[in-house]
Formats: sequence, C-alpha cells, structure tokens
Amino acid sequence: MQINVIDHPLVQHKLSLMRRKETSTSEFRQLVREVGPMLLYEATRDLPTALCEIETPLERMNAPFLAGKKLCLVPILRAGLGLVDAMVCSVPPARVGHLGLYRDPKTLEAVEYFCKMPDDLGERCVIVVDPMLATGNSAVAALTRLRELGARQIKLICLLAAPEGLGQIEAAHPEVEIFTAAIDASLNDHAYIVPGLGDAGDRLFGTK
Ligand code: URA
Repeated sequence: MQINVIDHPLVQHKLSLMRRKETSTSEFRQLVREVGPMLLYEATRDLPTALCEIETPLERMNAPFLAGKKLCLVPILRAGLGLVDAMVCSVPPARVGHLGLYRDPKTLEAVEYFCKMPDDLGERCVIVVDPMLATGNSAVAALTRLRELGARQIKLICLLAAPEGLGQIEAAHPEVEIFTAAIDASLNDHAYIVPGLGDAGDRLFGTK
C-alpha cells in the first residue's frame, strides 16, 4: 500500500495550528480550507496531460491540458465537507459524490445513511476525503461501497491517520493510495486519534 505523508512545511505549520485546542472554529475552518487544496495537489500529481495547440498573444505552442480521467471527490459526511469545499475551487469541473456514514457509538462500525454519486464513477479518478483516518471502519466501508458502485481508481485524502486505520485499509483495500498530512501515534479508548486534533466535525462546525 502506498502512503504519502505530505511533509511540506506549509502543510505541517497549518496542521499544528489546527491541533491546538485554543484554535477557534473560524480559524480551524479557514485552515482546513487552506490545507485541502495542498493535499489535493499532491494526490493529483499523476493525472495525465496531453498537449494541445494553442495560440498565445505572441505565437503558437503545444500546451499541456488535463487529459483522460476526470475527478470525482467524495467527502465522507460530515467532516469531509470542510476539506472538499476548497478542493472544488482548485478543480472546478470535478464531480462531488456524497457519502454519509456515522459511527455506531457502541460497535464503532460505520453505518451508511446517505449516498449520492455520479453515474460514471468507473471513468473517474475517485478521491475519498475524510479528515480523520482513525479505526479505518468508515474509510473501509466507503471504499467498499465505491467499488460496488463501479469505481476503479480510488485514492484517499485525510489530514491525520492512525496506524490502526492504515492497517485496516491495507488489509481490505491495499491498492488505494493514501495521502495524509501526518501519521499519529495511536487511538485512545474512544477511538480518537492521539495526539490528534479532536473531533474534526465538531471543530469545523462548532458543535461542541
Ligand atoms: N474522528 C475525529 O473527528 N477525530 C478523531 O480523532 C477520530 C475520529
């Protein structure tokens, strides 16, 4: 399984600000908006391009344009929404599929409550966006569902990953490439990533 830790200083600085408990909801939201496109930038590094002749004000040239597969971003509701908003600004033609999963507080299993995807998933590079890869249950459920719906090339972007979540993905979907800003130490008894940044959804939407 390929795991890419985006250790760019700008990403790391913003992540550290996000981790601080004093960071307000509005600051947290703004930081997520800033980091999202940076992670997407790395995840789309291998998109194919094709040369096409254009005319600049000075002369003709062959210029590279995105070719072939287009993107479908799939935020896992609800925390994925914060990241995906800013990503769409960098890639306006991208489709956005929504997948709603909640974590059963007793079993910690992912339960689906919403799913709306474009029809042509199989022709797109599908990028799942979930800020926290903790137990991996939601991510594995999302990846399995997307495969059932025909997705062939899938990548996963998160802000933070725990070794447990990475292990789950490796076991169930080893072909999925992962992009994360950091791999933290472990999970606590409530399946939160530590040191982590807390509950990403609550911090984004100010619900705690
Ligand atoms: N989800 C979160 O928002 N935070 C964690 O630490 C784990 C899961």
